[in-house]
Amino acid sequence: MKGLEYLYLDHAATTPMRESAFDAFKHAEEVAFANSSGGHELSRRAKNLLEESRDFIADVFGAAPKEITFTSGGTEADNWIIKSPFLNNAPTSSKLVTSQIEHEAVLGSAEWIQAKGFSVNFVGVNEDGVVDVEKFIESCNKETLVASLMYANNETGVIQPINEILKKIKEINSEILFHSDVVQAVASEKLDFHKLGIDSAAISGHKVGGPKGIGVMFLSSKYKLPNYFHGGKQELERRAGTVNVSGVAGLAAALKEQQETLSDEKILLERERKIFEDTLKEKLEIKIVGENINRLSHISNIQFKGINSETLMVALDLKGLGVSRGSACASGAQKPSHVLKAMNVHMNDINSHLRFSFGWSTNNGDGLKAAKIVLATIEDIS
Ligand code: PLP
Repeated sequence: MKGLEYLYLDHAATTPMRESAFDAFKHAEEVAFANSSGGHELSRRAKNLLEESRDFIADVFGAAPKEITFTSGGTEADNWIIKSPFLNNAPTSSKLVTSQIEHEAVLGSAEWIQAKGFSVNFVGVNEDGVVDVEKFIESCNKETLVASLMYANNETGVIQPINEILKKIKEINSEILFHSDVVQAVASEKLDFHKLGIDSAAISGHKVGGPKGIGVMFLSSKYKLPNYFHGGKQELERRAGTVNVSGVAGLAAALKEQQETLSDEKILLERERKIFEDTLKEKLEIKIVGENINRLSHISNIQFKGINSETLMVALDLKGLGVSRGSACASGAQKPSHVLKAMNVHMNDINSHLRFSFGWSTNNGDGLKAAKIVLATIEDIS
């Protein structure tokens, strides 16, 4: 990373902005800064840039432009989709099914619905962090309004069996809106929403090298949701508020670069992660979450047996390696990870996990460099 003598392995929390995204953001502020809802030439420029970017982003995910609404990020998209379908329904006739390992944006929304009297099932996971497929399917019935299952978990990278679940629950109730938080997955997977069969999705700009404060709510044209924000008529009257055109342009540019480089990036991420994990395995007693199952290429969640992860994280930071204990929210609040808890990891062991996450700006050799720092640090603190 330019100007920083620091090895950053916390890309799952946020990844630096790609230069193409910076350029597009700056260009938009220079030439298309006007309000995209105005009636003059400069507004038309902003509106054109907005719609060109929407077309491009929709195409990346195999969606139609009208299925893409811009939000302030993944959290807003998750909140909108989880909460708003319930606003016009009675608690007796509608419920939500989700998993125990969702991001706080989904869990918090689910708890809000529950507090309003709606029934919510939080389905558990196995020891690898994969959702219990049968329980998820069994929990869905004619009363289920929304089923929400993340494509891949942000703390472990473990990919969830969405395909298997989707088909079965649509047979039980074809009306169920199937939402997937794909915020973390889009950092290292190519996704086509219609091919996948999901009805809605949440995306966040800052996980793919775009700006912070911009996100996407994908909603299949089969569905219409009550508005979340009220006021102006922006975004096909679905979300009031002046549109963040430069953020949208930055996101489109980040995705453009990512689509062009994704297959090479994946090779690099997997190679660096493998070197990192193999080097640690040779010298230490560690457990790698989801090591032998389907997981995202950029995340490595490791349990360092008998080592306190808070102590290790601070010591690594002092040696110039930035990592985290789990999701940014969970680590900031110093709460034990709800994901590891759901995986039945013993309380003492939860406090010995760290998440290392690689990203688009990871270089050749970073895996080995990081492993050497970890080994030296553990020697120092033992
Ligand atoms: N969902 C997942 C899986 C995430 O990892 C995050 C960010 O950490 C979010 C949602 C929230 O996205 P944003 O930061 O854009 O609100």
